[in-house]
Amino acid sequence: MKIVRSPVEMKKLSMTMQRSGSSVGLVPTMGALHKGHISLLDRINDTCDFSVMSIFVNPVQFGPKEDFQKYPRPFDADCELAEKAGCDVIFAPSKEDMYPENYCTYVNVEDITDGLCGASRPGHFRGVTTVVLKFFNIVMPQIACFGQKDAQQVLVIKRMVHDLNMSVTIDVAPIFREESGLAMSSRNVYLSDAERVAAPLIYKGLTDAVTQYNNGVIKTDTLINVVTTVIGQSPLLEIEYVELVDTLKIKPVTSVTSAALIAVACRTKESRTRLIDNIVIGGTL
Ligand code: AMP
Repeated sequence: MKIVRSPVEMKKLSMTMQRSGSSVGLVPTMGALHKGHISLLDRINDTCDFSVMSIFVNPVQFGPKEDFQKYPRPFDADCELAEKAGCDVIFAPSKEDMYPENYCTYVNVEDITDGLCGASRPGHFRGVTTVVLKFFNIVMPQIACFGQKDAQQVLVIKRMVHDLNMSVTIDVAPIFREESGLAMSSRNVYLSDAERVAAPLIYKGLTDAVTQYNNGVIKTDTLINVVTTVIGQSPLLEIEYVELVDTLKIKPVTSVTSAALIAVACRTKESRTRLIDNIVIGGTL
């Protein structure tokens, strides 16, 4: 496995691969890899000849009070995991190479970035779409894989690709979970022991709502109430939002009549860790 730091070198390598007839797949990550990330890499290895995983903690998508500084960066362990999983290239550029002095270009997907996580993280998606577009231009992948874990991110990136007539195919991987049901996340390392016990209630709330939906309940208020009641069983989980939205405009719906996303964000009381999770009902993302 090759480790590439320079965007220019990465682009050259990708061009060489494509000229020789190989398809290139990309998995963008911020590192601190877990099995969820590796499941994305597996999908790319199944469909592409050459796999690139980017590892870059993107400063532009973090708010001033967020965890950019303390975000875990176990680079050597990440490389070992990625290599074992059959990754061909780790692309890990520096902040300075991605955003040199006088950098001033950003891409902003409007409207669908206002709600859910966008409401409490202003500028977050602008940072995500900017860095992802830069990665697409550097790596030029045929396929890029993203996790449903960050459902709004998937919808925003798909919209950017569509609106800007880009030719990359976006593949969406299911959420990889701990045995407890807790969605795997690089931020789970922040959780206290007690929070780890409480956090699986988020997924339990979501699955209880799906059970209700499968029993014929389609009213949003009722389904949201199921989720908030289950999460409310723990004093360690503070709900930021529980929302049921359509998967096109990401706007609240009053009942489920087509594909809808139940999305949750919570903050834990002890370590102040932000946890997100979701489930799609009546369709796919
Ligand atoms: P991150 O490093 O957190 O930015 O995540 C990089 C990619 O991995 C994103 O597309 C995430 O949605 C995806 N991802 C993170 N956690 C999971 C998970 N538990 N299951 C599946 N995909 C995930």
